[in-house]
Amino acid sequence: MLPIIATPKYEMIVPSTGESITYRPYVVKEEKILLIALESQDDTQIEKAVIDIIKACVESPIDVNNLATFDIEFIFITLRSKSVGEGIKLSMKCMSETCDVSEDINLELDKIKVSNLENIKDKNIKITDDISIDMRWLKASDKLTEAQRKTTTDSIIASAAKAIEIIYNGEEIFATKDAQFKEVINFVESLNTDQFTSILEHMEQTPILSYDLSYNCKTCGNENIRELRGLTDFFI
Ligand SMILES: [Zn+2]
Repeated sequence: MLPIIATPKYEMIVPSTGESITYRPYVVKEEKILLIALESQDDTQIEKAVIDIIKACVESPIDVNNLATFDIEFIFITLRSKSVGEGIKLSMKCMSETCDVSEDINLELDKIKVSNLENIKDKNIKITDDISIDMRWLKASDKLTEAQRKTTTDSIIASAAKAIEIIYNGEEIFATKDAQFKEVINFVESLNTDQFTSILEHMEQTPILSYDLSYNCKTCGNENIRELRGLTDFFI
């Protein structure tokens, strides 16, 4: 029988829950899944590949569909950076106006973080004197359907509706998971601009995968400083 390479085990902390999970690093078969998805340039396929890879590599029992989007991104990038022991390399363009030279930059795994994690202590938003809502973080299972993504406006409204967890009306409490999604959409569409804006501002506070990148250009010496934000920034 051909030998099978033994893979080491590692632990990481799920950002939103603080839970410790065990994983094995990502190997060639996972890189293959990712590369095929990246070639398609289709967001849905890329997201599916990311989730499939997490399911394959994480050995602790976790419900991936129930994790916050930023948890998924953090878990994935941690798996990826442990692969083949070489970390993550990005081809970055020098930010000096007169230079423009690209070079490969290595990211340090322990500097990849989820920013804004402390932000969402207050999840309640007052809509009127009687009505208020509780917000929650978006999850993998909140993926919008094609119809919900028809226009940018449709996507924003649908995402806002998904991010509402509970609606309080005086003494009455409605959990949106028990309601028809269409009804929640109707609720969002009935808000005035100020009320809707307060929901969007709340959503903008959602934690996000982040990395403070700083390096001196090998060609011109320019000090390049920028923050990588969100998974796509790590795929350049
Ligand atoms: Zn330069």
